[in-house]
Amino acid sequence: MKQSVPCFFLIIVGLRSKMNFNEKHYLVPKLNTMKLCELCKKNEADKTGSHIIPHFLLKRVDNLDGSDKRDLEFGFRIGNGNVKGYFGRSIQPEKLEETYGEVTDELIAGSRSEMIVDFLLCSDCEKKLAEIEHSYSPSIEKFEKTTFKSNDDPQLSTLFWASVFWRASVSGTLAIKLSDEHEELLRIFLNNGLKTEESEADFTGIKYRLLKIEGYQEDRDGFVNFGHNQTNPYYAAIGDQVIKMTFDQDAEKQKVAFFGFEDAMNDAPLNNVENGEQSMPVNHEMLEHAIAEFTMMLAEDFMEVLDNDLDELHVFLGGNGKMDDELKSAIKKNIEQDEIPLGHRYSPEGKTIAIIKAMQDLGVIPKE
Ligand SMILES: [Zn+2]
Repeated sequence: MKQSVPCFFLIIVGLRSKMNFNEKHYLVPKLNTMKLCELCKKNEADKTGSHIIPHFLLKRVDNLDGSDKRDLEFGFRIGNGNVKGYFGRSIQPEKLEETYGEVTDELIAGSRSEMIVDFLLCSDCEKKLAEIEHSYSPSIEKFEKTTFKSNDDPQLSTLFWASVFWRASVSGTLAIKLSDEHEELLRIFLNNGLKTEESEADFTGIKYRLLKIEGYQEDRDGFVNFGHNQTNPYYAAIGDQVIKMTFDQDAEKQKVAFFGFEDAMNDAPLNNVENGEQSMPVNHEMLEHAIAEFTMMLAEDFMEVLDNDLDELHVFLGGNGKMDDELKSAIKKNIEQDEIPLGHRYSPEGKTIAIIKAMQDLGVIPKE
């Protein structure tokens, strides 16, 4: 089953999967220096280095050794035919050389994960969210063979998952955007807790279901993805946690595909601020299937974007119509070759090398 729109975040730890993508529309994190905190809308957003996805959750996906340590993230952001590697400051140079070849200042300067942003929140709100994360974090480690209670505090657990979806939406760096109404409801919920001073908001309609992947820690190849262009229900897969959040009964009834998780998801208990959180376990094959489907979708997207780029290049160089198939095939073959380090292979630099080499080999341009 194919998603209606490709969506956009894959992290493969340890580079065990081979991927085929190129670089195009690259989203840049917000770096405004003078703006109000997105959560309280009162204080200046002075906090730098905010994690869009809580570190304790994301480290299970993209920390190189799966440890608790910071600055060990190592992954790829992929989407819209675009691949951008990122890595933390503590990654060893040998590992970087293995993936990127020469380690340049430019490479280091552009290495920050787009899931770490500046000036989104004020320090007070960052602290508030950190407290929610800290209190909730033990729940992530829980796993049982049958549906189980993963957290006893329904307000806390709902606040936590609300914070994940809300931050992903307001950050502008991930391919998820809640509707204005839902984003504002979550903001008020997070800002005030269950107090409704800011409005007559009713938070009982914020509901979610939670799946947990069995055996995840033994084989951490995983991905992070927020269902793209979906409005209520909203999905997220973050390592071994798969979440569906809804805001009304109509959305609950909608059957929206999400990498094969959708059927199991509808069997999982519905959680909200009134019920203690329950999670449903699913087997590891379900994650493998999801990664395969996601990778296939991105590969198709990559080829489509590459084809269009090459046709545009052809016209730019004075040609008519589309680029010759023989040249296109040679370029694609060059991209696949191991001469270009994996970290660059699907980037604009890698693509440029592949194009020039193919054009030289076919006599379109002279060899140097
Ligand atoms: Zn604030």
